[in-house]
Amino acid sequence: MQIEVEDLHKIYDGGVHALRGISLNITNGVYGLLGPNGSGKTTLMRILATLLLPTKGTARVDNHDVRSDRLPIRRVLGYLPQDFGLYPNLTVWEQLEYAALLCDIKDPAKRRQAVEQVLAETNMDIFADRRIKTLSGGMRQRVGIAQALLNSPQLLIIDEPTSGLDPEERIRIRSLLAELGGDRVIILSTHIVADIAATADRVGILHFGELLFDDTPEQLVSTAQGKVWLIDVDKRELATIKQEYVFSGVFRKGDRLEIRVLADEQPHPKARPTEPNMEDAYLRIIEEHRNSGGQLNA
Ligand code: ADP
Ligand code: MG
Repeated sequence: MQIEVEDLHKIYDGGVHALRGISLNITNGVYGLLGPNGSGKTTLMRILATLLLPTKGTARVDNHDVRSDRLPIRRVLGYLPQDFGLYPNLTVWEQLEYAALLCDIKDPAKRRQAVEQVLAETNMDIFADRRIKTLSGGMRQRVGIAQALLNSPQLLIIDEPTSGLDPEERIRIRSLLAELGGDRVIILSTHIVADIAATADRVGILHFGELLFDDTPEQLVSTAQGKVWLIDVDKRELATIKQEYVFSGVFRKGDRLEIRVLADEQPHPKARPTEPNMEDAYLRIIEEHRNSGGQLNA
């Protein structure tokens, strides 16, 4: 599976420039699209899923163009939108059986086999007889993922799989997605840095429709090497210091505070260097783009 995107633009009716010249290649593994709300994640995913036409540029899935060659892409695709509907009164099994019918799996034996397989893959087999309305958010999300897996897709696109879930459920969904990786391409979007750290082989950072980073999570962390600092401050100093620096965290240390600051050089005589994490690196890249006025260039 190979996805090639070149100079992709999307301008919506009304003029919002949601993608501004995205180029990237994705091969097997889990690709995490990270970016704040409104950065263009859903737009890019819908274009790759052949549900939305780009304004300019090309996107190909295994050499099939998303504009002119939709059918072969749809055959290898599983897509789960952020807000998908399930039938509350159906059981998990009935929901999936119905989805399998819509997927055109006509033979009842094959349908049964497909449903059994996706239930096993998503660890939902024991809940097959539960009604959808009795499931937690995380379990519903797993039913959605099961549904997207029905045609054994080589390309699985999942929009914000962890949004709205509690921390425990989020961890389960992350590990499920990591397990489902392997031979296929999974593209997931998130605005939560920890989702990427736990699941993605590669990460793309989108901000105001621009791709600011495209590499491994380890490389992402290393972009902040030597640029993260800790400063012990008095609570009274906080307000002034806050205005001067880019913060990545504040921690209480008794009656003093330890602040985590992003800066290319030692920002303060009391600042001590510390190891970067992914959150630092992400904030730094976003902040740099903001300061360069990236979002203002039409
Ligand atoms: P994300 O998924 O990262 O939150 P989106 O792709 O949904 O970002 O949105 C990117 C930008 O495009 C936002 O400014 C959003 O308001 C705008 N947008 C999204 N969908 C539409 C639409 N159907 N019509 C007009 N503008 C849209
Ligand atoms: Mg979105």
